[in-house]
Amino acid sequence: TPVIVAIDGPAGTGKSSTSKAVATRLGLGFLDTGAQYRAMTWWMLSHGVDVDDPAKVAAAASEPAIVSGTDPQGPTITVDGEDVAGPIRTHEVSAAVSAVSAVPEVRSVITELQRSIAAAAPNGLVAEGRDIGTTVLPDADVKIFLTASPEVRAARRSAELKGKDAAGLKATREALLKRDAADSARKASPLAKAADAIEVDTSDLTLEQVVECVVTLIDE
Ligand code: C5P
Repeated sequence: TPVIVAIDGPAGTGKSSTSKAVATRLGLGFLDTGAQYRAMTWWMLSHGVDVDDPAKVAAAASEPAIVSGTDPQGPTITVDGEDVAGPIRTHEVSAAVSAVSAVPEVRSVITELQRSIAAAAPNGLVAEGRDIGTTVLPDADVKIFLTASPEVRAARRSAELKGKDAAGLKATREALLKRDAADSARKASPLAKAADAIEVDTSDLTLEQVVECVVTLIDE
């Protein structure tokens, strides 16, 4: 029977790297749900939708055709057939994504998409995000909530951005904490640990150690 794994937590805790490695090891699909919210946000920005106007965002929410490829060794994301893997990682999208994600119509469109992807995964799926264990897949077989100190999270995000991080560590830390605060404060499916999720603090762990820990929890 397919195995469904939910990995939630704030930005910079290593959700994507961990989820990809776990999915690869266990032969499962991988779904980056943040990439879908980023793709929705990229579409809104490139179509001139005012992302600070929830009514405008709600009215457009079902227009973009977002498609996620779930191979953990080469995940893909397209909108209306266009590869947006690069453009969804810009500062502009990162700064606007919390506002777009807070709109209930956006969440219902994307949640439905996520559930259909999970249902179609032949061996199962590792899905990572903010509300997978609480809302999207409440019956997941294993639920993990990754955390890490703000310093560690900012340093990881900064390293990820490499030379592109012109803003520097302090600005990266502030942007990341601002996004987490907005994601935690919204009414619709906020960033939260499910009651039955296992919390793993990754501050002092290597990626390999986190992966080992998660694989062990799934095997139990
Ligand atoms: O994971 P990532 O940092 O790329 O997610 C980008 C944004 O997408 C988050 O800050 C949040 O606003 C939104 N998101 C969400 N629910 C999810 C995954 C991401 O609201 N399940």
